[in-house]
Amino acid sequence: MSDLDAFIAGLPKAELHVHHVGSASPRIVAELAARHPDSAVPSDPEALADYFTFRDFAHFIEVYLSVVDLIRDAEDVRLLTYEVARDMARQQIRYAELTITPFSSVRRGIPDAAFVEAIEDARKSAEAELGVVLRWCFDIPGEAGLEAAEETARIACELQPEGLVSFGLGGPEIGVPRPQFKPYFDRAIAAGLRSVPHAGETTGPGTIWDALRDLRAERIGHGISAAQDPQLLAHLAERRIALEVCPTSNIATRAVRTLDEHPLKELVDAGVLVTVNSDDPPMFGTDLNTEYAVAARLLELDTTGLTALAKNAVTASFMDDAAKARLAAEIDAYARSWRG
Ligand SMILES: [Zn+2]
Repeated sequence: MSDLDAFIAGLPKAELHVHHVGSASPRIVAELAARHPDSAVPSDPEALADYFTFRDFAHFIEVYLSVVDLIRDAEDVRLLTYEVARDMARQQIRYAELTITPFSSVRRGIPDAAFVEAIEDARKSAEAELGVVLRWCFDIPGEAGLEAAEETARIACELQPEGLVSFGLGGPEIGVPRPQFKPYFDRAIAAGLRSVPHAGETTGPGTIWDALRDLRAERIGHGISAAQDPQLLAHLAERRIALEVCPTSNIATRAVRTLDEHPLKELVDAGVLVTVNSDDPPMFGTDLNTEYAVAARLLELDTTGLTALAKNAVTASFMDDAAKARLAAEIDAYARSWRG
């Protein structure tokens, strides 16, 4: 391990863009598969590691759907959520806003109240036992249309679990215009939730403008195509609207051809508040520490630069000010101890 990798491994971090089912590591999937022996997913860890070796985007979808198929009852939901937090704790992630798609589970027959109880139970245990603070972003699976939007807004506003902080929109962007979701975001915002749609991952800056205007986005999931629009870059920088950039995901989904062509540096150079995140880490063969290493290479960061990057995520998070100050101080103390 290089010095910089060792620094990253110990650096206290916050993660703002990471999906619930998309965080199921081979270890977690093995546990879920063992609970459901009729599933096609292997429960032997070695066979699973091979099953999980990322080949292409179609393979990602296949693996993703097979994991979705393993989330059948509230106990699966609780186990997945708690075990994801365990993987985060190992990477020194102290705080994560986990994007959860309740619609998928509720449609598959898990009652909404039981679903919410399961994630909340896991959240409290994770905080007490693992020292990881979890918060939720409930997102609309865009490809499932307005029915999913209605159901997601209903669950978010009616049940409003304690850990819920934001409302999102995921799934494909092409063929799924953002403005149609305005009424659902209006309801969520009126209920006190923050707006965090995905935009500008696989489509141009126009989608980001739509997310800002129609969905009143306070942060943008991905947002990398902002690099094509100087006016948008200036707007994001001036309003301190952060981007949740996920470099390895962008390569895996072919949103960007190679890491060397990734616009991360252009976004940072334009003064935009940029955070680095892992999206669906095991499925893209990455984790947050690897994403920090990628950012360090693309942005030529030393430990001071990495410290600032970690603090960007704190700044852009939906923690309260006291929690932000505490985590920022912990990051600074770590950086000092490293230098000393
Ligand atoms: Zn995402």
